[in-house]
Amino acid sequence: MATGKTVAHVPVVRTIERPRNVDGTLARVPDFFGTNVFDLRAMAKKLSSHDLDTIGKVMKLGGKIDATLAERVASAAREWAIEKGATHYCHWFQPQTGTTAEKHDAFLWLDKNGHPIERFTGKELLQSEPDASSFPSGGMRSTFEARGYTSWDPSSPMFMMETENGRTLYIPSVFISYHGDALDFKTPLLRSNDSLNKEAVKTLHLLGEKSVTNVITTVGAEQEFFVVSRDQAMARPDLRLSGRTVFGKRPAKGQELEDHYFGHIPTRVHAFINELEIELYKVGVPIKTRHNEVAPGQFEVAPIFEGSNIASDHNALLMKVMRTVGARHNFSVLLHEKPFAGVNGSGKHVNWSMSDSTGRNLLDPGSTPHQNLVFLTFLCGVMQGIYDHSDVLRASVASTGNDHRLGANEAPPAIISCFLGDTLDQILNAIEAGKADNVSAEKALLDLGVNHLQHVALDNTDRNRTSPFAFTGNKFEFRAVGSSAPVSFPTAILNAAVTSGLTKVNAKLAARSKGGAVSPESVFEVLREVIRDTRNIRFEGNGYSQEWRDEAARRGLGNLPDTPSALGVWTTPAKTAFLVETGTLTATDLESRAAIQWERYIKQRLIEVNAAIEMAQTGILPTTLSYLADLVELGEASARLHISTPAQKLAGELGQFAVRFETALSALRSGLERVTAGDAFEHAELANTAKAIASQLLPKLEELRATADQIESIVPASKWPFPTYQDMLFPAD
Ligand code: ADP
Ligand code: MG
Repeated sequence: MATGKTVAHVPVVRTIERPRNVDGTLARVPDFFGTNVFDLRAMAKKLSSHDLDTIGKVMKLGGKIDATLAERVASAAREWAIEKGATHYCHWFQPQTGTTAEKHDAFLWLDKNGHPIERFTGKELLQSEPDASSFPSGGMRSTFEARGYTSWDPSSPMFMMETENGRTLYIPSVFISYHGDALDFKTPLLRSNDSLNKEAVKTLHLLGEKSVTNVITTVGAEQEFFVVSRDQAMARPDLRLSGRTVFGKRPAKGQELEDHYFGHIPTRVHAFINELEIELYKVGVPIKTRHNEVAPGQFEVAPIFEGSNIASDHNALLMKVMRTVGARHNFSVLLHEKPFAGVNGSGKHVNWSMSDSTGRNLLDPGSTPHQNLVFLTFLCGVMQGIYDHSDVLRASVASTGNDHRLGANEAPPAIISCFLGDTLDQILNAIEAGKADNVSAEKALLDLGVNHLQHVALDNTDRNRTSPFAFTGNKFEFRAVGSSAPVSFPTAILNAAVTSGLTKVNAKLAARSKGGAVSPESVFEVLREVIRDTRNIRFEGNGYSQEWRDEAARRGLGNLPDTPSALGVWTTPAKTAFLVETGTLTATDLESRAAIQWERYIKQRLIEVNAAIEMAQTGILPTTLSYLADLVELGEASARLHISTPAQKLAGELGQFAVRFETALSALRSGLERVTAGDAFEHAELANTAKAIASQLLPKLEELRATADQIESIVPASKWPFPTYQDMLFPAD
């Protein structure tokens, strides 16, 4: 049994400094930033300029690296990594487990005489075969080919990770089946980037910008997380196994004083983040911001935005490195969306935009009428995409953890809507009202106050925090994404939605193009139509309010409050057709993904329930009964000696709680048996099982918790078997 109150946090203040120069002075960040990345700069020292050119193009525009070039790249990468002390390489990928996977192989090889050499071939770079049958398949292993291989994604550079235990060359990889189905989260992102590129370039050409050759999506993912003492987290089966606490009385203080947000960063946490940044800088992750978040024990770090593929790899790397560096500081880093009831949960605001080959941000309103029109057209493409595919976007952020966050008056609601801010909202209203009729586009823009667009960024600093998808001046912020989610998947779905929106806009523009660029007046007509058609997705008010839920229902917007209600979207072809059309996911991908998600939901919930049962049975109940026995004994003794004590009264109260607790525990146990009986885990039953867990089991878990939390407030703190909320959220230093 866990040792409860005796689990003290062992403070370690481990101070790591930046690397030093040869003369002993501290190196500046730019001097060691990216030194462990095999990027074009590092490749230039090992490869011909022709090879470098080819790779540069693939990195920027996508495409394949042929076998002979792969051979040269592999041998250059091996030399580079070995010079830096690496002994191993690994394909690093994102299976649908919510975390990254890696299998290490040594460079070691035996030549034909049996002598040890170091080797790394083009074939090894391009393809590795993990034991894929052990990755999630959603119970479809018989019908669905879950076996596959990993292959280097040449648009994301290799890098070297250094730890106490040696150095390894990491190869960012996709994970695909032999039939070409995506088994991971990265492949859909790469595919969606390709299709968005094509459609967005078409839009620009229709607007007369023939010189633009490509468009990329950009992402900056703000990462929220909790930090708690590792010793304490390890003493709680719920945190240790499921990532969230299923018991825990609220402390006398929560976040009501609003003293944590942007407050002083506690020294030990500061030391941890400092080391985290140094590690990340070496592998080229541009962390820019660090601060305390709203809840006690909660923090955020955010990078400078990058192309979405690299940004999503970097976020995955951030989550990985956080855990290892956290452990060195005796911290558990909690990436779960809701580790503690009663205080805010964690999200991952995915800031998103599009950038063209001239380096222009397409969601920047710009300062000339033409730029304004380009901006408005892309804005309309985004709104059309969000309007048409809101349910799929909702499903893309569905997870067990996020169910405790979305719609919980602290995070965006589960209803997807778009917030634009006053200025922009008024401009769109004016365009829709037809105020631009019969005048030149330039004059129309002026009349509409579009020249204020430049100030939209300023306007939107006072953001609407209740919106799941908010325009923040020159980008959108997808706030419904959960803190533990991989960035790649929701971004892929967002890209596909916008591609679909742009396709509609392009069809309208093309119909008015007469072969050449569309006239500004005709662009206006198209904007007016799109603004009118997508009006229902715009919402500027308070997303937490009941009025909005009612209003959203009147507007016919989807409200999928939890994962079991959201996952059905994946197997509704009318909703997912755009994913197939944009090449983001195949029909097989969709089916297997749905099954994997159902299975994942079930398994995660069962881990929580089983952890709760274990804690109740081996910790809370024995503690309760033992204190009850003390009270009864004292009550009997005091009665014998005619001394008056409150022991009997307290025993009576605690006895009632103990009975209630045991009853709730039995109910949870039998509920668990019921929902997992028979064919509950068969492929065809997964959805029903998940729904039964949500509707029958979770309320029983809540009931058990409520009683446990009451008991916790009666039993002496020194006897409580698990570290408390107070200890974890308000450590001494
Ligand atoms: P906050 O929301 O905390 O005020 P910032 O305005 O600093 O944040 O930006 C948050 C994130 O948005 C950062 O990671 C930043 O790099 C990113 N960001 C800024 N511009 C873009 C863009 N054009 N595309 C994608 N992300 C962007
Ligand atoms: Mg933000």
